[in-house]
Amino acid sequence: MKKISIIVPMYNEEEMIDLFFEKMNKTLSKITNYTFEFVTVDDGSRDRTLELLKKKKEEQGNIHIVSFSRNFGHEAAVAAGFKYASGDVMIVMDADLQDPPEVILQLIEKYEEGYEVVNAKRIDRMKDPFMKRFTAQAFYKVIAKLSGKIKVPENVGNYRLLDRKVVDEINALSERNRVFRVEVPFVGYKTTDVGFVRAERPKGKTHYNYKNMFKLAGDSITSSSVAPLVWPFKWGIFVTLFNAIALLINIILYSCQMNDITFLPSYPSLVLFIIIVPMFVLGIMMIILGIFGMYLSRIMVEAQDRPVYIVKEDIK
Ligand code: UDP
Ligand code: MG
Repeated sequence: MKKISIIVPMYNEEEMIDLFFEKMNKTLSKITNYTFEFVTVDDGSRDRTLELLKKKKEEQGNIHIVSFSRNFGHEAAVAAGFKYASGDVMIVMDADLQDPPEVILQLIEKYEEGYEVVNAKRIDRMKDPFMKRFTAQAFYKVIAKLSGKIKVPENVGNYRLLDRKVVDEINALSERNRVFRVEVPFVGYKTTDVGFVRAERPKGKTHYNYKNMFKLAGDSITSSSVAPLVWPFKWGIFVTLFNAIALLINIILYSCQMNDITFLPSYPSLVLFIIIVPMFVLGIMMIILGIFGMYLSRIMVEAQDRPVYIVKEDIK
């Protein structure tokens, strides 16, 4: 019988543990043609998550606990889950039941039809606050434009089913900047999705704020495309050509003696040329520098070659 590993990153989820296993066990008991293991990755929780996981493990043997030495982040926890899981098939899901367990039945159904990657796709984001929906939509637009041959699916988070083959390929990637949602489409394989409506978090609170979301967006963009690095080159050519033409026109006008009038700049035009235009140019230069900084900082992280996570305890 094939084994399915359920990979669950957990950071300060003490309130969710009982409820999570209760709901999961109930759903999984309906599936009799696979065995299951839980690979729970305690991402350096500061509450009783690890302690409660150990207690749960006494009740049910199929829990594998991997515990980090500190908080390394959601992506690191997923990466560790993949390394430590022993199943033939893996399902990644959050601990807070926002990824409804029932969807697993549909994921497995698609797997049995021969798909090696089954994404759970959020079909309704109306419950999300407007700003989150807006930024998410903008993010997917940008990434779709930039990522070229890597098709990053829209509205797919971490909830997915992956065949062992796919996970082996992901494990073989040597990058430190782990972005699961880019790595899966990068690796490829036969992919499909099933739609689901994201539930609300029953207990505890989200760990994602706008700062984390921007970091994830930056990581996703830099890990899927290098196109922004050549933007200044393209736009530079455009600006230079524009300037050359403007200069040419000026020379022609001058030689025609048409601008032979005394020129006294008005106050608004002075403000425009002394303050607004230079500030605008400075702003653009800073954005370009920032884009270079984004890539450079990731190159730095890769060059340092530090481990993505450090495991303190591995309890099988
Ligand atoms: N998580 C983690 N490390 C972190 C932050 C979050 O392992 O540094 C886990 C968390 O316990 C949960 C999942 O990642 O299982 C998703 O987190 P959360 O529910 O806070 O994110 P949201 O659903 O709001 O995007
Ligand atoms: Mg959540």
